[in-house]
Amino acid sequence: MAQNQFEYIIIGAGHNGLVAAAYLAKQGKKVLVLERRSIVGGTVVTESFGENFAVDSVQTGGNLRPDIIKDLKLPLSGLDGTSRPAFISLQPDGNHLTLNEESIKRFSKKDASRWNEFVRFMDKAASILDVAYATIMPRLPKNMSLRDGYGLLELGLELRLAGRKDMLNFIRALPMSAQELVEEYFESEIVKAAIASVAIHGSTLGPMSAGTGYTLIHNWLNRGELAHSNVGKAGEVTSVLANAVKSFGGEIRTDAEVAKIKIENQIAKGVTLSNGEEISADAILSSADPKHTLLKLVGAQDLPPEFVWHTQSIKMRGSVAKIHLQTNGNHGIPAGTLCVAPSIKYLEKAYDAAKYGEISEKPYLEVTTLGNVVSIHFQFAPYHLKSSEWKVERAKVENLAINTLAEHFPNLKSSIVNRKSITPLDLEQTYGLSEGDINHGQLMLDQFLFMRPIPGWSNHKTPIDNLYLCGSGVHGGGGVSGAAGRNVLKVLK
Ligand SMILES: Cc1cc2nc3c(=O)[nH]c(=O)nc-3n(C[C@H](O)[C@H](O)[C@H](O)COP(=O)(O)OP(=O)(O)OC[C@H]3O[C@@H](n4cnc5c(N)ncnc54)[C@H](O)[C@@H]3O)c2cc1C
Repeated sequence: MAQNQFEYIIIGAGHNGLVAAAYLAKQGKKVLVLERRSIVGGTVVTESFGENFAVDSVQTGGNLRPDIIKDLKLPLSGLDGTSRPAFISLQPDGNHLTLNEESIKRFSKKDASRWNEFVRFMDKAASILDVAYATIMPRLPKNMSLRDGYGLLELGLELRLAGRKDMLNFIRALPMSAQELVEEYFESEIVKAAIASVAIHGSTLGPMSAGTGYTLIHNWLNRGELAHSNVGKAGEVTSVLANAVKSFGGEIRTDAEVAKIKIENQIAKGVTLSNGEEISADAILSSADPKHTLLKLVGAQDLPPEFVWHTQSIKMRGSVAKIHLQTNGNHGIPAGTLCVAPSIKYLEKAYDAAKYGEISEKPYLEVTTLGNVVSIHFQFAPYHLKSSEWKVERAKVENLAINTLAEHFPNLKSSIVNRKSITPLDLEQTYGLSEGDINHGQLMLDQFLFMRPIPGWSNHKTPIDNLYLCGSGVHGGGGVSGAAGRNVLKVLK
């Protein structure tokens, strides 16, 4: 095979692109991964912003599915379901809640008695969703193939095996709001809000929005409960994956931005890089988001009008900013995942601002620490600001984050020596996420299962032959799991 001719080109070296590349390289295929940044990892990355200032820059930690770790023999430990790091809700009066039976007792004995039942149901619901995410969805409303039917049969069997009650409760939970779901178990506002905050993490939705029952189960699945595990290890996950690609004989090129996918007679033939270099391949897999891949790298002229309309309509509503604080170590914040989510109303009001294109004055925060570095996930900071622009709003979001957190940790402000913030615009420009959408498309019920990324195209294929999608924007994503990168292998010719 000629030097610039490959069997597979994978666009993007995020975790999904690397998972797909590693499986293909393991099969002995000639594989090339092209990444526009100078480092691999996409959103699962650990970066240094100065001396003593290294941190998971966007996504905190990250867990691949255990079958991927096993198949690719990756030196990583998966979620074992037993280690559950602390998830702490910060209260204005300093009376913080750790989400476990013992601590919940201080707020409500009744809630404490229901905690284990809630965890059991959520674990069960997450395991059902995991099976759904491993199943290639049929291309409804097109006819179903025998293979589609078989996949669905397996999913149906899993649901049935879950038991009648859990099956019903799982199906009921998906369209519910997080508020409705937690109210079925708990009475304490503090407990309810802490759990509901995880439902809206990364979504431009409030805890009263329909479908946040689903996003709660989704985030529970990818985290392995409420708290982040593997804090500080995002970069390790993707560098281990990159090493696997290379050890199986695959090639990875960084600083290699794909400008165009070359198409002849509706068949993908290769790519043209921003520097003009052309590389040919039998098939192209893109882990960049569907809007970027289809509207920019392919282009409307090569796609059917209705498909273009559907792709343009994918909801990308990024509203997350990240603020990292380098401190002298005296920040006073304990280990674990902490949230500022004192009540359901507080969270809903934080979301209200995003609806009107405004930055939340009283934001929902999620906080992790890595030694001297404090990382703050800030919602809501909408990509589309109604009456300002991100060039001038960076300081505002940084100050809101610091002031809100400092109400709980008085030593924080004086401990700060440096800061680095990532706005939704930075998520687009630096990390390649269209409209700053962390999941390559909102996780909503009309962008779920056979409707992800768009109805009729949920099986990784596109109207262009030999062009496949394998990133978070397709069924199996978003979030960190590797499911989309693993599943695409099932549909390649
Ligand atoms: C702030 C933040 C918080 C998050 N929190 C969570 C969480 O709590 N739980 C969770 O599960 N998930 C979370 N996520 C989401 C999760 O990190 C992503 O959904 C997932 O990592 C995306 O992986 P991916 O491999 O599909 O895509 P990406 O990681 O986006 O990788 C795609 C790669 O493609 C590259 N690329 C794009 N265009 C081109 C091009 N033209 N040419 C070459 N390369 C290109 C990009 O540079 C990038 O490296 C979070 C994300 C962010 C940003």
